[in-house]
Amino acid sequence: MLNLVIFGAPGSGKGTQSERLIDKYGLHHISTGEVLREHISRGDELGKIADSYISKGQLIPDDLMIRVLENVLDSNPELTAKGVIFDGFPRTIDQAKALKEMLAKRDSKVHAVIGLEVAEDELMRRMIQRGAETGRADDNPETIKKRLKVYHTQTQPLRDYYIAEGKYHGIDGTGSVDDVHGKVVDSLTARLPEHV
Ligand code: ATP
Ligand code: MG
Repeated sequence: MLNLVIFGAPGSGKGTQSERLIDKYGLHHISTGEVLREHISRGDELGKIADSYISKGQLIPDDLMIRVLENVLDSNPELTAKGVIFDGFPRTIDQAKALKEMLAKRDSKVHAVIGLEVAEDELMRRMIQRGAETGRADDNPETIKKRLKVYHTQTQPLRDYYIAEGKYHGIDGTGSVDDVHGKVVDSLTARLPEHV
C-alpha cells in the first residue's frame, strides 16, 4: 500500500507523471481537477459551483472541496485498499490536515509527496500550449496568471508543511516525461524501498 501526493504548480506535469506512476505501481488516481471538470461537463449543481471558481482561476472553497474528496473515497473503498495518487489535492494547509484525518480513519496515511518543480516561464508556455491543443477553458493567459498567483499564496506553503513532516521529495520537473519519471522513481526507491 502506497499513498502518494503529487504536488506542484499548475502545468507542472502532475497528471502526466501520475499516469506513469499508475502504470508502474498499479495505484489508483484521484485528480480533483478531473473530478470537477466531469461535474462541469455534466452541468450538475456541483459543476456549476466549480465552474464559477475555476473560470476565475480561484480554488474551490476548502469545506466543499474536502466534502467532494471524502465522497470519492466513500464511494470507492477499493481505492484506499491498494493505494492512491492524489493529484491536485491538497492545495491548502487545511486540505492537507483534512486528508491526514480522512486517511487516518481508514488506517492509512500519506507516505510521500512528490513536488514537481518547474520555472514560471516554462509553466506558462506549457499551459498556453495545452489550451491551444485541448481547448481547456482555464488555460488562457489571463486565467493562468491568476492560477499561478493563487498557487504561490495558498498552495506553495504546503511545501514547508510536508518538509516538516519529512515527506517532501522535490524533483526537477523540466526535461522529457521519461527523464522526470526516472527521477521520481529513483527518489521513491531511495526513500521508500519497502513500498516500491
Ligand atoms: P496540472 O496542470 O498540473 O494538472 P492544474 O492546476 O492546471 O494542474 P487541475 O489540478 O486540473 O489543474 O485543477 C484545475 C482547477 O480545479 C484549479 O485551478 C482549481 O480551481 C480547481 N481545483 C482542483 N483541485 C482543487 C483543490 N484541491 N482545491 C480547490 N480547488 C481545486
Ligand atoms: Mg491535472
